[in-house]
Amino acid sequence: MNVADSEVVRTLLRGDGLREAESAATADVVLLNTCAIRDKAEQKVWTRLRDLRGRKGKEGQTVAVLGCMAERVKDDLFRDGLADVVVGPDAYRRLPAMLRDQEQSIDVTLDRSENYADVLPTRVEHTAHGAFVSIQRGCDNACSYCIVPYVRGRERSRSVQTILDEVASLYDSGVREITLLGQNVNSYHDHTTDSIRQTTREYTTDFTPFVKSDKKDAQTGVRFAELLERCAQAAPDARLRFTSPHPKDFPDDVLETIARVSNIAKQIHMPAQSGSDQMLRRMRRGYTGEAYRSLIQRARAVIPDVALSSDFIAGFCGESHEDHLRTLSLIQDVGYDMAFLFAYSSRERTPAARRLEDDVPSDIKKKRLQELIDAFRTGREARSRERVGKIHLILVEGAPRRDRGADLVSGRDDGNRVHVFPSSLPDGSELKPGDFAHVLVDRAEGATLIGVALRRAAGAGDRPLVDADTGAEFLIDEQTGVSRWAAEPPLVAASAHARPAVATRAFSTMATAEDAIDAILAAATPATVLGVAKDATGREARDAFLVVSRLVHPDVCTDERAGAAFAALVEAYDAFAPSDIKYDVSQAEFQGDALTTAAWMWDDAAAAARKHKARHTLDDDGSTGRSVM
Ligand code: SAM
Ligand code: SF4
Repeated sequence: MNVADSEVVRTLLRGDGLREAESAATADVVLLNTCAIRDKAEQKVWTRLRDLRGRKGKEGQTVAVLGCMAERVKDDLFRDGLADVVVGPDAYRRLPAMLRDQEQSIDVTLDRSENYADVLPTRVEHTAHGAFVSIQRGCDNACSYCIVPYVRGRERSRSVQTILDEVASLYDSGVREITLLGQNVNSYHDHTTDSIRQTTREYTTDFTPFVKSDKKDAQTGVRFAELLERCAQAAPDARLRFTSPHPKDFPDDVLETIARVSNIAKQIHMPAQSGSDQMLRRMRRGYTGEAYRSLIQRARAVIPDVALSSDFIAGFCGESHEDHLRTLSLIQDVGYDMAFLFAYSSRERTPAARRLEDDVPSDIKKKRLQELIDAFRTGREARSRERVGKIHLILVEGAPRRDRGADLVSGRDDGNRVHVFPSSLPDGSELKPGDFAHVLVDRAEGATLIGVALRRAAGAGDRPLVDADTGAEFLIDEQTGVSRWAAEPPLVAASAHARPAVATRAFSTMATAEDAIDAILAAATPATVLGVAKDATGREARDAFLVVSRLVHPDVCTDERAGAAFAALVEAYDAFAPSDIKYDVSQAEFQGDALTTAAWMWDDAAAAARKHKARHTLDDDGSTGRSVM
């Protein structure tokens, strides 16, 4: 949210002739855009202010504090000369004049009509392929722990047309992922614009909002599902996301729109806060644990493989051990892809601070928070393992943060998971940031998924056709009704178990089974039989074997030379690979399904090769009963 607000402020200040400085140390004016949601966020701002006034700032420099902390703390920020200017979230239009004329130093007026609809935000990074679009400001909910309604004011939605214009302009400038932003995005309502769908306001089944709908809710106008679809149309190849929604505003129309419109990410942030009914009542969230769980079930039924994330608060007022256990079991049962977990931080002016006792000791809060984090991580690991061997639609973002090798790039899937894979494609072309690709996941390393890019995708709506159970891509032969491997047999089947770089090289040199067979039968040494690298050793040999063997496996390859090529391959592998890297099933158990399949493939492949070679030998020498392997 603050990133989007900073972009608005940047436009307003540039419009007044100000320019960005190289660093805070050399700037005439330093702006701090602040958050007030937890005490820790505010403590960081105080520290930064003291630093600026100490050795890190410049003599005579103007320091302006913007945003939610400015709204909450107000003129206390002038204490000890720390801030010169204080501006709340609805007063940014007055900031240029305040800096220029220095007549007024504070404006924290909340304005129900301000939504900066006419200010086109100036993005910081012109090369980045993701951008935020604010669709709504403020919040009309009244969660008892939360400061947001007090520092950002009443909820107001931007008009559809200004949002669509901004989305289209971002799309035209090359942005390929757009996140619609607001505190409660899915209660979006532009009652000034005629709706195409004519849907009235609906809440999630079994949810009772604490704040009753106001009069305008009874009218039509454009609601969230319609806005989402129109934004997706305005940016046809870009991926659309949104955050933060409230669980109470997920009528089936919203879920179905996410499922149906192909360039909307199949991901939902579903902030639960707690798994205990007693806590949810005290938090004034308007739902029970049961209602939340059934919403999750419905979301999963309507949007297959939807990625889910959530927010949780540990140690809210009066939280008992049993309440905490209920939250733990919700996290365990759902298995979130992502979660934001916080220890409760009492905020002045909120209903909880006024009426409830912040009675969970800080060490217990920390302990419970850690338990929630651990439960979340365990669930996320399980979700990561489920993704191994499957093909994902990835937006390439750039080089991975940790240096894994020069030819690797990273990107994110619909669920915002980071994937790392080689930039080269089997057709020899290179992926660059802003491209979409179908990436087959080879393994999970912590929260990161490692894979190989199979092909370039046309855009965020070009989803891989994947077999739901196996993750493999199949085509059905219309005449025979028999399924067979789709365009990339070796990669789909085998590189899930091979190292991506090797798989890619293998595939780029042997794009078809015929190529592979030619190369294998013409090869003189085991290394060249493996066909990947003359000096292939150890794991490289194994990986190469997996890729190529699947390509020429007699069960899937119709070329009559497949059996001979396969046998040569197995022989080369046996001669070449050190015994310690050969598959064994105990390893498979350790690493899960992917290796189980790999181990099976190896046994199966080796057995098939032996059979074939034995048969061949029998045929060749006319004798009987002599086994050659
Ligand atoms: N509007 C969003 C929603 O309802 O989910 C959330 C906005 S809030 C900025 C983000 C998260 O901060 C909340 O979901 C909640 O988990 C957390 N949060 C808010 N107030 C808090 C407090 N006083 N202490 C700890 N966490 C808090
Ligand atoms: Fe805060 Fe609740 Fe509004 Fe989210 S919905 S911003 S938690 S009051």
